[in-house]
Amino acid sequence: METGTPIAIKKAIQERCWIDSAAYQTLYRQSITDSVGFWRSQAERIDWFREPTQIRDVSFHPDDVHIHWFQDGELNATYNCIDRHLEKNGDGIALLWEPDQPHQQRREIRYRELHEQVCRLANTLTRLGVNKGDRVMLYMPMIPEAVFAMLACARIGAIHSVVFAGFSPDALAGRIADCQARLVITADAGRRAGKQVPLKANVDAALEKPGTDCVDTVLVVEHLGVAPDWHNGRDRRYSEEMAASSTHCPAVAMNAEDPLFILYTSGSTGKPKGVLHTTGGYLVYAALTHQVAFDYHPGQVYWCTADVGWITGHTYLVYGPLANGATCVMFEGVPNYPNDQRVGDIIDRYQVNILYTAPTAIRALMAGGDHCCQGSHRDSLRLLATAGEPINPAAWQWFHDVVGKGQAAVVDTWWQTETGGIMICPLPGAIEAKPGAATRPFFGVQPALLDNEGHILTGAAEGNLVIGDSWPGQARTLWGDHERFVQTYFSTFPGYYCTGDGARRDADGDYWITGRVDDVINVSGHRMGTAEVESALVAHPKVCEAAVVGYPHQLKGQGIYVYVTLNAGTDSNEALCEELRLWVRQEIGPIATPDLIHFTVDLPKTRSGKIMRRILRKVAANEHDSLGDISTLADPAVVASLVETRMNR
Ligand code: ATP
Ligand code: MG
Repeated sequence: METGTPIAIKKAIQERCWIDSAAYQTLYRQSITDSVGFWRSQAERIDWFREPTQIRDVSFHPDDVHIHWFQDGELNATYNCIDRHLEKNGDGIALLWEPDQPHQQRREIRYRELHEQVCRLANTLTRLGVNKGDRVMLYMPMIPEAVFAMLACARIGAIHSVVFAGFSPDALAGRIADCQARLVITADAGRRAGKQVPLKANVDAALEKPGTDCVDTVLVVEHLGVAPDWHNGRDRRYSEEMAASSTHCPAVAMNAEDPLFILYTSGSTGKPKGVLHTTGGYLVYAALTHQVAFDYHPGQVYWCTADVGWITGHTYLVYGPLANGATCVMFEGVPNYPNDQRVGDIIDRYQVNILYTAPTAIRALMAGGDHCCQGSHRDSLRLLATAGEPINPAAWQWFHDVVGKGQAAVVDTWWQTETGGIMICPLPGAIEAKPGAATRPFFGVQPALLDNEGHILTGAAEGNLVIGDSWPGQARTLWGDHERFVQTYFSTFPGYYCTGDGARRDADGDYWITGRVDDVINVSGHRMGTAEVESALVAHPKVCEAAVVGYPHQLKGQGIYVYVTLNAGTDSNEALCEELRLWVRQEIGPIATPDLIHFTVDLPKTRSGKIMRRILRKVAANEHDSLGDISTLADPAVVASLVETRMNR
């Protein structure tokens, strides 16, 4: 467990990689010692209307936090994501759209068509009164129109804010009110796993709530052809408006530091924050990380399963890959609908070379056994990547051996909404992967570990993960609340960006994310991250998922309370409980032995699939009256059933 077993990168990958180990060392060193020179040259991958001469002006000092990159440069994100590809690759496919229902009509959007649609929609927005700097809310299913909408905003300098279409009217209203959006783009309805989601009706309900009268127009994509209630004067039909708009729309020159989008974080740690990203630095970072971390080469087919409502959907479904002229699979549905074979089918159908997904999806597929891979070949895969949560070594290994048939590299990418792009990952071809480790920092990223008093830890150590200097993809502020930005990220450890995550650095210098600092357990004075205990449990052949939290314990200070879901066909009983206790004891040591094991059929998760330990902690502590906001949970009913069946009544 200490350093894990290095996995040799497959030969097929190594032969063609952009970066090898020596290049990584040289470039990384340069990115730190000559940050200006490194990023000046990386900025050349972007087409600027006006080349930047001022590369960086940043301060993490709590009294004056400011972050500016390429400050005098001018560009437009959509020019880079579309226009510049037209001459050589106008007929190339930008989006391969796979509908929720496998028998439904698929769509292919070529770069030329993407250009046309985005221009039309940009002209539509302008005609509907949207100006540069205005906020536009997107509440949309995973359909190409969601991408058109993001890019149309960017084309005219409007700031988009995508709200995941699974969120409630309340959540939508709160975000609309916070950023005072003036227009909402939605669809009549969406579809996921065969279920219809009444998006337009949700928007109607949201706009009845206080603080939302800033919205004067709702643009409705007729996706499923249902006829929602209609508010004349406010609601507009997408098809009619688009037909009335021209396809000629020059991309507006934006300053590098003009806002590109606001994205509210999922809220697994409290009230959502309106994270603001700007144009130049974000795009440079998105394009570079997409190319290097996934070792993307022109012509490859790339599939990112993340919803456009999350940062991964922004950076690695839209801005990064399109800036690089990639062909992206966009999937409306979920990985196990209508059956577990769906992922394999999609990989084969489009000959996917690169798959980027989340540990939660992998664990869900794994729970059903290897049969999810029956009927597909998946020989096109050369790289598999994950993000969003620590990937348990057992899930990593299964992903590598079964889904990738041992032929594809696995890249675990650690990053956050606030970081804009990937921060720590094993760059394929350059860094040896270890199952469960995020490994090494990306160019320009200076991670450090601090103890709770802020002392820097050297060598092999475990502590608070902080970043010592700025990188171009970093968030600039929280919308309308710079003070909260400074407070949240720069005040705990002055001079550093505080990630809120804990990490361990092994003897080789590789980083392992141990979970959120708030989730750390303290048993008899021993501090433990949740990731390690959970990974030990997930490595047991009968366990599908595990969530570990501390609860008040008379002797130990905190005891270890474990929630466990089991693989298909496994029964929970006292014997299994004892077996799991012994298992963890053996895997980690007596100190990590679970005190209470709670078998459950489901765990509370955010809509992006992350386990919400904050709530599990409350349940374990018998504090059921102060669960906090559970509206961002995928299925709030799970909580009630856990309270009902908790172990320490
Ligand atoms: P909120 O900040 O509102 O609580 P969130 O942190 O879940 O929401 P994101 O920005 O999407 O929102 O997620 C970033 C967090 O996800 C990281 O801080 C980390 O805790 C976790 N994470 C992301 N990728 C990885 C990874 N590869 N390994 C371990 N943890 C990861
Ligand atoms: Mg976070």
